Amino acid sequence: MKKPKASRKDALASNMAYIARSVSPRMRTIHVCSFILACILAGLTLLAMHYAIQTQAKSNRITEAHHECQQAVDVLQETSDSLTYEARQYVETADPQHLNNYINEVEHSKHRESALQTLRENASNQKAVEALEQAREYSNSLSKTELRAMRLVAETQEGLSIPDSLQDITLSKDEQKLSNGEKRDLASKQVSDERYMRQKLDIKNQVQESSDLLIETLRDDLERCNAALDAQLTALRVGIILLLFVLAFVILSTTITMLWPMAVYEQNIRDDQALDPMGAQELRYLTAAYNDMYARNHDRAESLSYEANNDALTGVHNRGSFDKLLSQNKSSCALILVDIDYFKNFNDEWGHEMGDAILVEVAATLYASFKSTDHVCRIGGDEFAVIMADAHPNLRNVIAFRIEKVATFLRDTSNGLPAATVSVGIAFGELGCAEDELFKRADSALYEVKRRGRDGYAFYGET
Ligand code: GH3
Ligand code: MG
Repeated sequence: MKKPKASRKDALASNMAYIARSVSPRMRTIHVCSFILACILAGLTLLAMHYAIQTQAKSNRITEAHHECQQAVDVLQETSDSLTYEARQYVETADPQHLNNYINEVEHSKHRESALQTLRENASNQKAVEALEQAREYSNSLSKTELRAMRLVAETQEGLSIPDSLQDITLSKDEQKLSNGEKRDLASKQVSDERYMRQKLDIKNQVQESSDLLIETLRDDLERCNAALDAQLTALRVGIILLLFVLAFVILSTTITMLWPMAVYEQNIRDDQALDPMGAQELRYLTAAYNDMYARNHDRAESLSYEANNDALTGVHNRGSFDKLLSQNKSSCALILVDIDYFKNFNDEWGHEMGDAILVEVAATLYASFKSTDHVCRIGGDEFAVIMADAHPNLRNVIAFRIEKVATFLRDTSNGLPAATVSVGIAFGELGCAEDELFKRADSALYEVKRRGRDGYAFYGET
């Protein structure tokens, strides 16, 4: 016949039981190791996170500093252009407002100086600072030309209070000789000639170089930050994955070494079975203790049951057990009652101990002569019974043969015991026959043998 296929659940259960039987680590060791590992991994993960946050903040700082530097560079260029504009406007229009704007920027606002200061404080690239310092130098030099041009124009304006910055500039004798128109033409030429334009270009180039160096530094710094951030985020990811592995390991190991064996044990205890040692060592100790207690209880229960059902002297079933067996019998059977003849005399003649030995011998001989499925019982002082289940009157000869065998053995004195004889009454009980009735029949057959002079057997209904 084909075996039914094991379900997946059964297969899983058998695999789990196999693993749980194969492993026996200490749960405490697993917990301590997992805890230490988890702490180390959590620490490293937090460290990686801390560094990643710091790197991100550094990257923001670099970007902000670059932004400020770039603004400073732009301010220097714009201020230089603004001064050029004011100087040219003044030279063109002689409007003192432009002169005032120019002087105000040079003496008070000083945007170029503050831009340079901002760059010195924020730029990490010294060459970028030097390039802007150079631009500032060129711008100062250009300012001298512009101030000189504006001085020439100021000379042409009567009643104009010339600012201190212009009064410091002395005109040459040739310049002083020029007419107002010529002075203006010369001033206009000074702020637009080739030399002037070259100086403007020099400023622009220096500013551009400073800006390029700043961008290059920013790119390098950000690349370094990004590389560090990548490594830190990778460490963070690895840390989290390893932590998940540790968590999965703890769950799996707890299931295999504790939860699964405990589920199996619960079933074993419900089924009143000893426990199969499995899982963690701590659990195996408990299992061994439980199994020891279970075995002792089992032995005690067996011994109590044996004492309750068996005769203390001969070991065969006692009277209580005999009554139970007879009442529980659900088939036709034979009841054989055996009584030792003149047993009182044995006690009197050979002593009580020898009497006990005869009782043991009779019980053992009956036990050896009948099948293991038959029940041998001691139902009184020197009275025994054999219940033969599924026995019919057609077994009459078999029973008679066995009784004669018993009688022959008891007569034999080679074992050191005095010869004994027994009287035997046999009755067959058909299906449904009351046990009292059966007993009465066997007893009446036994009585008949006693009456006839003992040492024999009789079947009920044949006397
Ligand atoms: P009968 O042939 O008519 O059966 O005569 P009997 O002497 O055997 O008479 P009975 O069956 O009435 O006597 C049983 C005796 O068995 C009485 C008692 O002294 C003895 N006896 C009962 N229990 C024990 C026991 O455990 N050990 C011993 N040694 N003797 C017992
Ligand atoms: Mg007797």
